[in-house]
Amino acid sequence: MYLFNGLKQQLQSYLDASQVEEVEKAYVFARDSHNGQMRSSGDPYITHPVAVANILASLHLDKQTIMAALMHDVIEDCHVTSEQLNSNFGENVASLVEGVSKLTQIKFPSWEEAQAENFRKMIMAMVEDLRVVLIKLADRLHNMRTLGSLRPDKQRRIAKETIEIYAPIANRLGMYAMRTELEELGFAAQHPMRHRVIKESVKKARGNRKEIISNICKTIEDRLKSEEIDARVVGREKTPFSIYRKMQEKLGETVQVFSEVMDVYGFRVIADTEDSCYRILGQLHNLYRPVPGRFKDYIAIPKANGYQSLHSTLKGPHGLHIEVQVRTETMEQMAENGVAAHWLYKSGNDVNRAEIRAREWMRNLLELQKNTGDSIEFIESVKVDLFPDEVYVFTPHGNIIELPKKATPIDFAYAIHTDVGNSCIACKIDAKISALSTELSNGQTVEIITAPGAKPNPSWLSYVTTSKARSNIRHFIKNLHRDDAIKLGRRLLEKALGNKSIESVSEENIQRVLKETKHKKFEDILHEIGLGLTASIIIAHRLNSKTDIDPSKLKHKDAPFAIKGTEGMMIDYAKCCHPIPGDLIVGTISTSGGFILHRQDCSNVSNIKHHLDKYVPVQWEKDVVGDFRVSLSVDVINKHGVLAKVTSVISDNGVNIVNIEIDTKDGATNTLTFLVEIKDRLHLANLIRKIRLYDFVIKVSRHR
Ligand code: MN
Repeated sequence: MYLFNGLKQQLQSYLDASQVEEVEKAYVFARDSHNGQMRSSGDPYITHPVAVANILASLHLDKQTIMAALMHDVIEDCHVTSEQLNSNFGENVASLVEGVSKLTQIKFPSWEEAQAENFRKMIMAMVEDLRVVLIKLADRLHNMRTLGSLRPDKQRRIAKETIEIYAPIANRLGMYAMRTELEELGFAAQHPMRHRVIKESVKKARGNRKEIISNICKTIEDRLKSEEIDARVVGREKTPFSIYRKMQEKLGETVQVFSEVMDVYGFRVIADTEDSCYRILGQLHNLYRPVPGRFKDYIAIPKANGYQSLHSTLKGPHGLHIEVQVRTETMEQMAENGVAAHWLYKSGNDVNRAEIRAREWMRNLLELQKNTGDSIEFIESVKVDLFPDEVYVFTPHGNIIELPKKATPIDFAYAIHTDVGNSCIACKIDAKISALSTELSNGQTVEIITAPGAKPNPSWLSYVTTSKARSNIRHFIKNLHRDDAIKLGRRLLEKALGNKSIESVSEENIQRVLKETKHKKFEDILHEIGLGLTASIIIAHRLNSKTDIDPSKLKHKDAPFAIKGTEGMMIDYAKCCHPIPGDLIVGTISTSGGFILHRQDCSNVSNIKHHLDKYVPVQWEKDVVGDFRVSLSVDVINKHGVLAKVTSVISDNGVNIVNIEIDTKDGATNTLTFLVEIKDRLHLANLIRKIRLYDFVIKVSRHR
């Protein structure tokens, strides 16, 4: 059988005859090189590169990419040299093949290290020529499709790598179709049982829901027709992996059953122009009530990978949630193929946003690579970028800056410019002076205040999220002179001591702390603080305490270290348990040296209570000032105007609402989750009592 024929037909649809001929030469070369080699499935080896080339040809990749795909394993498996490829097929094809081979060749002692280094190579190869990574992704996709003939343990290892590394990269490049298939194949190989169970359940549910789906579909279509808007409506099916991931995410929050995840109905409306998209959204919001806080405009502000669409969630018939996506035909193609759409739809001057975004990202990666020491550090940094869950904020001039979730003003400052980050001293959020550790949320305007000669603060490491900020701060710390580090450490410690000088601390206490921390000179401690290795607040606490107490035996009342609420960025309040004044609390030290307050009964601290060096007994000062965040759940009967009533009672009590989430349980009841800012436990108790007065309220509880 002449394997080239199928591929030839594909290629003829978009390449001219002379180009197809060149590709055929590459095919013959690869076939002869792999002659006699077999895959573990028993097929001749050449079937694999041909399949990889087919995948890429379906994306209309150029001649050189297809040729390189056909020969992608000849250096690795057939001892062909890149010089040979160079003289036969030219420099471009040779360097593509070499690029792909480099990604596979490296062997490393530990799995984790191997992953990190391979990953780094992959990213770097991508920066040089995107096509190398497209070949590698297609290679992986075909290997996943034919995974069955390998040993089970090998299957699981490759599946894990596919889900952790290849699928996120496909996602980052906006290649949704590729990503979904990699994830599904990976999930099926990693957890065959779970995959089968979910797949069966989806099939059953599909049967039950057929009528509802077609009803909703018809209602939307009729409405668009009567408004004379041209668009097509399609139902969206959730994939087993996306259901599995959602179930995992929700695990531990509430009792999460399959039906809850499945009870969300997905629809996509595809229109001809951007303008129609907004008009369609208006009609949908008129047809069904939108769920507050769920609308996202990715058309005006595309995602990091170039994805564009309008998203909204609607309350459908019988209280069912309907997730809709509205986008144009071009956006749809871009959403499916991302960067590859560049080759697939060469339509005049239509810019491929995915490609522009991908190139921007790569430029940042290059810079990042220069600043990070080893592969593991690099992979940690890049991971953040690969799982985008972003917020959009504005500069005072109205420019949009995109940041990952939980980003702080420090991240924002570094996103603007490294110099801005390095010399940042304070910030204003929506014109109000705010802590540099504040988590930013969508739509805020952020202004960074800088001072000449200001330096990055090592304690920032405990709350920055972007790789750029992290690597710049680390870079600064690494290059810090010992003298400067000591100076910085002294400044931080004196601040933690409540602006007292270190000289005012008694010699006796200094000697005791030196003994406790096993240091010879006090300078060494200051040095460590300056480098961000030790938290200044811990040393301050030890210096202030009179006696040498075993913290694990300490009762709350005796805790010598008191929280005033004015420590600002020196202290973080744990987001798992949201401690407020009046709660029993403990202090812990994060891996990056930050000081974090938890509630004593928080499940996240129960396992570290035996580590003296990670756990500090603390209590609240008598008069604590400030607003503290706390998460409240309110179960209500689903009636009109309920949300408005609860929110007004909250604000009437002088409580600021930071965030609201609405979770529809069964159509009859809702759970409203509020993140609010409160003074103390008494304040909270008063509020809870007032909310309970409503007859539609079933239960009010504070989150643990
Ligand atoms: Mn291969």
